[in-house]
Amino acid sequence: MHPDVAALLTVQDDDVIIHELEEQLAALRPRLEVMAKERDKAVNSLQQARQTAEAEERRRREVADRVAQHRALQEKNQAALNSVTSMREATAATAQLDQAKRMIDEDERELAAIGQRLVEANHLVEERERIASELEAAQAQARESLAADQQAIEVKLVKARQERQDKANTVPRSLLSRYERIRSRKRVHAVFPLRGNSCGHCDTMIPLQRRSMMSGSGATEICEGCGVMLYAAE
Ligand SMILES: [Zn+2]
Repeated sequence: MHPDVAALLTVQDDDVIIHELEEQLAALRPRLEVMAKERDKAVNSLQQARQTAEAEERRRREVADRVAQHRALQEKNQAALNSVTSMREATAATAQLDQAKRMIDEDERELAAIGQRLVEANHLVEERERIASELEAAQAQARESLAADQQAIEVKLVKARQERQDKANTVPRSLLSRYERIRSRKRVHAVFPLRGNSCGHCDTMIPLQRRSMMSGSGATEICEGCGVMLYAAE
């Protein structure tokens, strides 16, 4: 094997390592996104529960105000009944008193129902507050460990890129740029040995003439089948 090709292969080894580290780094991102989504969901459902509880509370105050008004009306009617002077007035006042009483009864049934719903709504708020704060604590831990992972990978990447650069400096420019062109087409491995009479990557048969040139001079050839760089291993 030509020493230039041997040097290029060590660059490729480093590029594979760098690629793996970059993949690891990229794999951390979806985990952060999943956590953000979980948190949004918990916060939204807490918000929703709070709005429900607030609406019930508002409704409770409205009905309580109405009860107070109806009671005042009832007192007025009672006073009216006490001061009637005729049978006709007494009948009218009694009817009004009955009506006010029915309204108060109705309001109080509604108040009781609202009170029950309010208890449930407040329970839900507490429950969701608990879930949200537990999630927050768990995520704080997970984020910390993700950040540590990320930092460790970045340190390795800096080192790997430096080593790769040092090795790349020992490869002739034209060979290196041909290699980099192939890799830029989304290939992790760009250099393959001949396997028997064929491309070590795609098994396309390589003509005898080109093969003997490769083994004679240590030259590299581009596979017509898949476009990788080929060399004769022995
Ligand atoms: Zn091929």
